[in-house]
Amino acid sequence: MDVDAGHGAALGGALPTQPGELPLTRRLRSLLAWPGAETDPVSHLVRTHRGIHSGADPAVLRRAYTIAETMHRGQFRKSGEPYITHPLAVAQICADLGMDTTTLVAALLHDTVEDTRYTLQALADDFGPEVAHLVDGVTKFDKAFYGKAAEAETIRKMIIAAGKDVRVLIIKLADRLHNMRTLGVRSAASRERIARKTEEVLIPLCDRLGIQTLKRELDDVVLLHLHPEEHARIARHVHDRPGWDAYLAEVVAQARVALRRNRVDAAVSPRPRHLYSIWKDTVAGGHSAPYDLPRIAVVVDGPATDCYAALGAIHGLWRPVPGRFKDYIASPKNNLYRSLHTSVCGPKNRTVEVLIRTEEMHRSAEYGIAANYRFPRAGGDAAARAEQLAWLHRVLGWEQDAADPAQFLQSLRSDLAEAQIQVFADGRQVVLPAGATPVDLAYELGTERGDHCLAARINGRLAPLSSELEDGDVVEIFTENDADNGFEAEAAPRGPRKEWLRFVKSPHAQMQINRWFAEHTEPGISISDKVRLGRATIGLALRQHNRGLASDLPLLRLAEELGYPDLETLLVAVFDRVIAPDEVVRQLIDLVDHRQ
Ligand code: MN
Repeated sequence: MDVDAGHGAALGGALPTQPGELPLTRRLRSLLAWPGAETDPVSHLVRTHRGIHSGADPAVLRRAYTIAETMHRGQFRKSGEPYITHPLAVAQICADLGMDTTTLVAALLHDTVEDTRYTLQALADDFGPEVAHLVDGVTKFDKAFYGKAAEAETIRKMIIAAGKDVRVLIIKLADRLHNMRTLGVRSAASRERIARKTEEVLIPLCDRLGIQTLKRELDDVVLLHLHPEEHARIARHVHDRPGWDAYLAEVVAQARVALRRNRVDAAVSPRPRHLYSIWKDTVAGGHSAPYDLPRIAVVVDGPATDCYAALGAIHGLWRPVPGRFKDYIASPKNNLYRSLHTSVCGPKNRTVEVLIRTEEMHRSAEYGIAANYRFPRAGGDAAARAEQLAWLHRVLGWEQDAADPAQFLQSLRSDLAEAQIQVFADGRQVVLPAGATPVDLAYELGTERGDHCLAARINGRLAPLSSELEDGDVVEIFTENDADNGFEAEAAPRGPRKEWLRFVKSPHAQMQINRWFAEHTEPGISISDKVRLGRATIGLALRQHNRGLASDLPLLRLAEELGYPDLETLLVAVFDRVIAPDEVVRQLIDLVDHRQ
């Protein structure tokens, strides 16, 4: 990277609002710089931000805007608007979400390093390492160098950066939301491609972070681009539902009376579904007309136990529809969503859906991980926060084991796509992909447990290691190392079985089993295995430098430079330790960083 620290720092000095200025001077300066509040491009952003964080300092936002605007000047979006409208809109989405000043600054600058001559170093000098880390996390890999694999590398890099600071993902989601909103000007093919990618990776990521306010918008905009006529049909339906509002008002009024009579303090309001959710239920149920039940939310002003009191009041008023009650308070969803769900036979015999939750549950249902920033004093406890990011750390766990970014991306996709189950083991809840087996569980409990698992007891009964676990199962794992496991232990620990690969479900377990075989099959190893393992060794060593290789190009060049006849020979040499992997990696990084 070329270091250009002087440039940005110099610009920073020329910005408005300097300390020690007289109020009048400042006012005159601001009048000169921003001819009026209405035309000041940052004022809406500042107002939103200070509406949620009253103590926030607007000066740094203006400084970030000025740099971004200067850097992007002369660049235009496909719509013809000046480029700066995009980072400003992304920052606005983050502000509406209630994110902190640092996130907003990074959002304003998020494309500068990728698309302008502003460098990461200048950014770090001007705004500090935190902002630099966030911007770097959303900066794409160079397509010219990484080619087709750039996308996988970019996602891998973003996830690693998010492991250190989850705000990276929030900026990326806001970035994608604004790009999706403004896709209209692109060709049909590129709209579909971008919408599909959003649906495949970013929406599930958003869902895992629990940020429903963003997810609803992303869902609807994906529907718009993938199925425009369906989007129009559902929108029309929502727009003209005769008597719908009056009916909901009646439901809300009756519910309020019943709650008051039962001495439950609660706010009741209609809870409309978003278009995508109506469409999904319509398709899933095979309905010809849009399928959309009236829905209300009851937000109790008290502890979680009040939710059950509210449930009693609602079920006392209207008969519950059998089989529709779900207690996500006792068993939260994998993104920590908590609420009671029920359907009742409401006025005029129409089915009504009811969501019941506390204030705190409501906040985290809407904002998920972003609630920690929006309500910093609400005392969201550290344990819940850590739990919310547990899956992210699990994903980062396989990152260590994935042979290359493409495999990592594939694992990430399948993890995000799959339904999940929760089982109980070692006295705690463990989240696994649907269809997981005791072997998946054992690896989730620890590599040692996985490598040496021998048998499992599911709900008190012995079961084969290949059994499919079900939601709510209580599982015990026995290993060769359990002193008193009651099983015939063989003399020597034997490790995983090859056939496990046929039934394990989680990418983590797959990778761990492959790793074990890679480590334990050295004698009589074939050349093709040596090539594969040599490559994996380089991959691992690169990863220790937080780098990755998505194409063979740099390796090919290095092989040539080192005088090897071909790439395979170099990889075998690495495997046989003829050349140290660290040495290869040092030279590779040199080669990549000085490619001009
Ligand atoms: Mn962008």
